[in-house]
Amino acid sequence: MRTEARIDLGAIRANVTALADRAAGGAGVMAVVKADGYGHGAIPCARAALAGGATWLAVAAADEAAELRAAGIHAPILVMGALSPTELGVALDADADVVAWDEAFVAAVATHGGGSVHVKLDTGMGRLGTRDAATATRVAQAAEATDGVFLAGAMTHFATADERGDSFFGQQLERFAAWALPLKAAHPSIILHAANSAAALRDHAAHFAMVRAGVALYGLDPFGEDAAARELEPALELCSYVAAVKPIAPGESTGYGRRFVARAPTHTATVPIGYGDGVRRALTNNLDVLVRGARRPLVGTVSMDNITLDVGRPPAAAVGEPAVLIGAQGDERISAEEIAARLQTINYEVTCGLLPRVPRLHHHDGEPA
Ligand SMILES: *Cc1c(COP(=O)(O)O)cnc(C)c1O
Repeated sequence: MRTEARIDLGAIRANVTALADRAAGGAGVMAVVKADGYGHGAIPCARAALAGGATWLAVAAADEAAELRAAGIHAPILVMGALSPTELGVALDADADVVAWDEAFVAAVATHGGGSVHVKLDTGMGRLGTRDAATATRVAQAAEATDGVFLAGAMTHFATADERGDSFFGQQLERFAAWALPLKAAHPSIILHAANSAAALRDHAAHFAMVRAGVALYGLDPFGEDAAARELEPALELCSYVAAVKPIAPGESTGYGRRFVARAPTHTATVPIGYGDGVRRALTNNLDVLVRGARRPLVGTVSMDNITLDVGRPPAAAVGEPAVLIGAQGDERISAEEIAARLQTINYEVTCGLLPRVPRLHHHDGEPA
């Protein structure tokens, strides 16, 4: 093993169960597995989420729905993203539900042989959906009235659910409820859904019939804080190993551009993982890696295939020992949230940024999946 991401499907299953247990009034969980399950592997994660009690799956792109179907997954799937005419065909062929916000799109669904639609009201995200509640209602009526088209749901998406002390979330929630509750009264079979992970954890009033949980499934904290404090278990570990250890004398350097020059005698350990695997170059001289249960600072430039650590004198690392970039060793833990903070980004981007060269190894609480 050079470098691998180990994904605990038992954790994903438990996270879904915890979210379902906390959902208001028996609201369901729609497990969001877009972007290859936030880098964790969409197909095994979808199966684990369904085993944990999710009743729906969601993706962003039509091809992602087709991939789940090709793997033999039969659960209802919602494609949440915008769809070109070709992509609409792919989504409907995969028997996935799609999102509509204008009447022409409803007609296109019928032309493609029919399917189920969820009407989207843009209550403030400002991306997809119609801003106008009357238009949204007309689209819902058109779906209901069109042969071969089934009105399955009504939805919105929050822009600030992860921001503490903001009032915009409440305004969006109010706008959605004012439109969706009367619509539900007129069309009792529709499923109302609005909450992402942050909204689901923040406010029961946002749960409606179903929460669309993404990041929390993977045990990542939607607020960028401590996932464990929210009873979420991080599913992904990013592991490599010590491939070389060498002494380095004062004045000697390591890596491109000599961005680490030893001031005192020490040892470096070379770990074969780099930006070609998704360890961003911006982490140059700005990352800790666990070796022998202790944090060792990354020194020098992150290169495509390798990083170097300062492992001290005598060297607290030997060739062949494991090195953990995300995960725990002994009492020490490095989270995706910690790396996100170093990069001034969010945990989502850290796991989505793991590149295809990193094999994903799925297991159940340590047992082979
Ligand atoms: C990605 C996405 C979600 C899931 O968001 P998380 O913050 O990962 O829970 C929910 N709804 C929509 C429309 C999305 O695009």
